[in-house]
Amino acid sequence: MPQRGRIFLATPGPTNVPDRVLRAMHRAAEDFAAPPFSETARSCLEDLTKVFRTRGRAFCFIGNGHAAWEVPLVNLVEPGDAVLVPISGRFSQSWAEMAECLGLETIRLELPRDLPLDPATIEAALRADQGQKIKTVLVVHNENATGIVSDMVAIRRAIDAAGHPALFVVDAISSLAIEPFAMDEWGIDCTLTASQKGLMLPPGLSFVAMNERALAVAETCRHPRRYFDLNFRRGAMTYQWFHGTPPLQQIWGLRESLDMLFEEGLEAVVARHRRLADAVRACVACWAEAGDLAFHCAVPEARSNAVTAIRTAPGIDPDAMRRLARDSYQTALGAGLGDLEGMAFRIGHLGDLNEPMILGTLAATELALRRSGIASGSGGLEAAIESLALDDAARPTRASDPA
Ligand SMILES: *Cc1c(COP(=O)(O)O)cnc(C)c1O
Repeated sequence: MPQRGRIFLATPGPTNVPDRVLRAMHRAAEDFAAPPFSETARSCLEDLTKVFRTRGRAFCFIGNGHAAWEVPLVNLVEPGDAVLVPISGRFSQSWAEMAECLGLETIRLELPRDLPLDPATIEAALRADQGQKIKTVLVVHNENATGIVSDMVAIRRAIDAAGHPALFVVDAISSLAIEPFAMDEWGIDCTLTASQKGLMLPPGLSFVAMNERALAVAETCRHPRRYFDLNFRRGAMTYQWFHGTPPLQQIWGLRESLDMLFEEGLEAVVARHRRLADAVRACVACWAEAGDLAFHCAVPEARSNAVTAIRTAPGIDPDAMRRLARDSYQTALGAGLGDLEGMAFRIGHLGDLNEPMILGTLAATELALRRSGIASGSGGLEAAIESLALDDAARPTRASDPA
């Protein structure tokens, strides 16, 4: 049977690429050293710093989020130095594995999977590091696997309270242009993100921002590196910014996506994610009353505005339900990852989305739940509509809201 209509992409990355971005990328190849492209690339790198909210510098890498993970590891830390990684889900765990693989002493802080990161544990680990071997604290802002957003300001305070000089490095891959984020104001030294989440671009690019303090460390860092070397990338030529041929069409797409974000306004972008996430949470809370489903995150305030992780009761196969949603209703949901494999599914609500798309996703999910014999009660969609009907100003504040 041919499938009709649009696919509803509710995976927490990749996200929908707006038609405007697709059209902007529909361009012939060109001389990348000539002004139309080189000026556009320069404007993109400058404007990215506005999204990160930093007076520092932004870099672009041809590679997904995993590539961006490697950038601080080889530019800010030398083999034999240590990194501290609070682990609360599949993504933070993979980042720690990468650090270890690159020869860094990796101090893993195993933390509960259903709670936001505990700043006190991080502070204690830093206090215990008498010789100050730890050079960076690697923190995932929004743990995509668990749908939990942690408080970056509290973690900065914890690092300061310990009086530790380690650099604060944040994975904002599924939070930038989604959740409130302010790199300089929050005292973050290095932030990384990828193209296919809040930036609404095809996968394949990633971006790293560093402040002066991190750039100074990168300048003298002796970790062997070539492609990821930021010192080379700070050169004057377009060729250097990308360490080779630039991804021409993707940069035109990035220009368009940045324009779209600025047209909407970054605060409005964040408010829209909050609004759509509230609707998903209202619906899931209703489903949960029937007993088969539950929010994975135990702290309502820390439930992510990018993705909602939903645990299924023992004996339920969430992946069969996801296959049904995908194959019968063109709705792609995220799988449970890491510890949650086979025990959860995730609804992504990030990127180029609006109210009807969220309602369609929730309706198709409820349909797939019902046809899979998974209890979802009634009233979920009604609760989502009621939530969407609220004024933004009437929404209670959340811990992650900007001060
Ligand atoms: C998506 C994501 C990643 C991985 O990005 P890839 O582009 O798949 O390599 C890493 N961290 C977080 C928090 C993410 O959401």
